[in-house]
Amino acid sequence: MRSTEPSPVASLELLRALKQWFGYDRFRPGQEAVVRDALADKDLLAVMPTGGGKSLCFQLPALLKPGTMIVVSPLIALMQDQVRLLKDNGISASYLNSSLDSAESANRIRSLLAGDYRLLYVAPERLMTLEFLESLLPRLIEGPGLSAFTIDEAHCVSEWGHDFRPEYRRLGDLRARFPDTPCYAFTATATERVRADIVQQLALREPSLHLASFNRANLYYAVRPKGGRSYAELLALARGQHSGIVYCLSRKRVDELSAKLCEDGIVALPYHAGLSAQARHEHQERYIRDDAQVIVATVAFGMGINKLDVRWVVHYDLPKSMEGYYQEAGRAGRDGEPARCILYYGLGDIHTAEFLISRKLDPVSGEPLEAEQRVARQQLRRLLDYAEATDCRRLVQLRYFGETYSPPCGACDNCVEPKEKQDWTLEAQQFLSCIARLNQRGQRFGAAYIIEVLRGAKTEKIERNGHETLSTYGIGSRRSVDEWRQLARALLHQGHVQETHDGFPVLTLTERARTLLRGEEALMLAIAAKPEKARRRKPAADQDAPLPAEEALFQRLRTLRKSLADEQAVPPYVVFADAALRAMARDRPRSLTAFAAIPGVGARKLDRYGARFVELIRDEAPEAPA
Ligand code: ADP
Ligand code: ZN
Repeated sequence: MRSTEPSPVASLELLRALKQWFGYDRFRPGQEAVVRDALADKDLLAVMPTGGGKSLCFQLPALLKPGTMIVVSPLIALMQDQVRLLKDNGISASYLNSSLDSAESANRIRSLLAGDYRLLYVAPERLMTLEFLESLLPRLIEGPGLSAFTIDEAHCVSEWGHDFRPEYRRLGDLRARFPDTPCYAFTATATERVRADIVQQLALREPSLHLASFNRANLYYAVRPKGGRSYAELLALARGQHSGIVYCLSRKRVDELSAKLCEDGIVALPYHAGLSAQARHEHQERYIRDDAQVIVATVAFGMGINKLDVRWVVHYDLPKSMEGYYQEAGRAGRDGEPARCILYYGLGDIHTAEFLISRKLDPVSGEPLEAEQRVARQQLRRLLDYAEATDCRRLVQLRYFGETYSPPCGACDNCVEPKEKQDWTLEAQQFLSCIARLNQRGQRFGAAYIIEVLRGAKTEKIERNGHETLSTYGIGSRRSVDEWRQLARALLHQGHVQETHDGFPVLTLTERARTLLRGEEALMLAIAAKPEKARRRKPAADQDAPLPAEEALFQRLRTLRKSLADEQAVPPYVVFADAALRAMARDRPRSLTAFAAIPGVGARKLDRYGARFVELIRDEAPEAPA
């Protein structure tokens, strides 16, 4: 393939265009190869993690090739956002979707045919109308030219993906109708099956495949036990002031938690499918514009959100699958700056997940959907493997996506704060024999009750059942409830006990329990660090914390950015990414020439914002130490 061989001259031209239009000095890993293949008019499939910098891979070719590029995008909010970002870089772009009235649509179509746009974003159902296929596109090709089709979020063509959209299926016709126009597919979906489906459904022609690593090096991952301290930890994180997302399983919990955060002085908004479309839109917009700091949401939130500077994502409830977790947590740090992803996980989450799976029933017959339940259970298992892991979190995630990785990563709880392994065989035997004693009497209970018996609790229920007389009553008072819960989770996860439903969840022993009870197997438990201890040591991702003066300047730069954004009614990150402000705070450019060297400052932004920022830096900051 001659076209993909790097040629130094062309490289220089590409880099020049990259700086001029986007303000960057170098490509991120994988970007240049995609850009080259696109420029060579090849069909391609590029799989890059969220935040990997997909957009630039088709936007730069759109600027360098003759004609207009048609970009298919599934969501109105996504299109608006991308067009906003492009315009702020001085690139002429527009979109067509159902949010426009017919006069405005007609205007834009005229501009399209006049060749005014480098890129036009279109909803798939609009693109696949006869008007587009048989009239507009042929006229565009005859006239100013059609440079390529870009299919963004291409996993939407696949039923195997997490976001199937039937309208996407029809895009397969493009290949046959426009054989001379290349087609570029982009997705962040990590699974093999979906990738194969994209190539097939879009009928891509000998596509070059670009697979970036799914490692999001700027994200710090941690799993914390869910319990009495979880809310305080969340609040402490929110008080750090940066934008964050909290994911919960139910609408009720979303409402409760956002109200609670508000009471504690955090500007938090709820987001779920139970709110009106208008309220959802408004909450989303306020969040994107940094008028609200935190959004508390069900998984309904996120896909259409192009907020790049989310600094933390907390899962307050267990997500449904590893892939789901990776995508949701991955909404943090899309600008490449450090961000934290924390998953809270408790015994109750397993009950709830199992319960929800058991309710996957055929809507007509009411019979269990066995195949679906099986898949959902497998996915839950894999996620629990992650939550219970004592290995590097990154390793576990990447292994799930079929990648190899050598820890330590320096940015996950297990690498930064390795947990101490303790021998809990004795306690495990006590727990299991307590279940065995109860079972001998034909009685079954859940973990909470068993823990009460072991700890010798004096409750009415225990008295009524006469369980103070059990030989296991009170033998475990040395251990706290939280510790016993951790043990119960480990026993469940490792298959020594299983949970069945007797109207409520109850525990029973499995075959594997016997080897433990007979002392033929040991149970090692990794005890989570106490939060006080965890806080003392700084995670690697935070180690290069800026100096106070730099931080103060950064905050003033943020304020300026916010007011410039408000003047234009756009989100702050459209003006500059956090990374650009960080670089300004660090390098303190005191002239426009120095300002132009800041990553993220392209020709247009230099023109538009340079003077204001340089003025602020001159007024407020002494010269950077040499
Ligand atoms: P994706 O669509 O893959 O999630 P985006 O295209 O939105 O990611 O890019 C994420 C962020 O990375 C944006 O802030 C973008 O400007 C930035 N970015 C992209 N390419 C580069 C680059 N070569 N150098 C620095 N930042 C980049
Ligand atoms: Zn790690």
